[in-house]
Amino acid sequence: MRIYVLDSSAIINYLNRYYAPGLCYYTTNSVLEEVKSSLSRIRLECSMLRGELRILDPTPEDIEEVVKNAKRTGDFFKLSKTDIEVLALALRLKRGGGDVVIITDDYAIMNLSIRLRVPFKPALMSPISEYREVILVCPVCHYKVRIDEEGGQGVVCPLCGTELKLVIRRRKRIHRSLHKRAMK
Ligand SMILES: [Zn+2]
Repeated sequence: MRIYVLDSSAIINYLNRYYAPGLCYYTTNSVLEEVKSSLSRIRLECSMLRGELRILDPTPEDIEEVVKNAKRTGDFFKLSKTDIEVLALALRLKRGGGDVVIITDDYAIMNLSIRLRVPFKPALMSPISEYREVILVCPVCHYKVRIDEEGGQGVVCPLCGTELKLVIRRRKRIHRSLHKRAMK
């Protein structure tokens, strides 16, 4: 059975527009808390009452797996705690044998979904066309470091003190079949 995991943007944009009864939607408690608007809150509560939107939190192991991979792609500093939990929930459901698709308009979540091999579908935006891994490089002495929670701006080279620059270490065009699989 197809399971849709909704992030904070999708819970408003996707569920309100494309909601179809009988489908299986999941999200986390943290996403629910972020949705402050009363209108979407009312709709969400209706979906929950009908049993179509289920709330489940990820395991610490799945969160750890997402964080590890987010540091590899360089997306870690762009992701909120909620974003990480959404990705981790998708991993948890996938591990349980679910045919999981993440619904998101966040480019960092899309990028990391590719690395985690979870199909994704945007709610309103176009899907990203390229997978990227970025690192920080010193333009002067070429010192390289993976991006950690400090992020991509204002980090200085520990060797010479120059501000490090974001550099794409690896890029890969995304095959259309990946999107097709998520769209069906
Ligand atoms: Zn340097």
